[in-house]
Amino acid sequence: MSKTATVRTKKTVQTKTVRTKIRLNPAVCDGFGFCCEILPEVIGRDEWGFPVLGDGTVPQSLRRTAEQAVAFCPRKALWLETTGCLGTTGRVERTRTR
Ligand code: SF4
Repeated sequence: MSKTATVRTKKTVQTKTVRTKIRLNPAVCDGFGFCCEILPEVIGRDEWGFPVLGDGTVPQSLRRTAEQAVAFCPRKALWLETTGCLGTTGRVERTRTR
């Protein structure tokens, strides 16, 4: 005679949320504004034409464009900062019969 038992296991799922910010070193920026043309959704201009970043958050959908803005900066004044945090998003419950 075989025994049948149900074993329930609960597992917490952790996911990684990644945030990207674009950063600027104003000391080396030449102010010609290539970056403002490439990524206007994130990089604005001040009254003299120099870039203004605000908090610099880059939406995930613009990540590639932000990488291009960094690559095309002739003074290497831009870079991307990526931060990740672990978050708990839910539980997975598995049922196993033996
Ligand atoms: S592309 Fe680079 S050097 Fe030109 S304005 Fe933007 S940050 Fe400054």
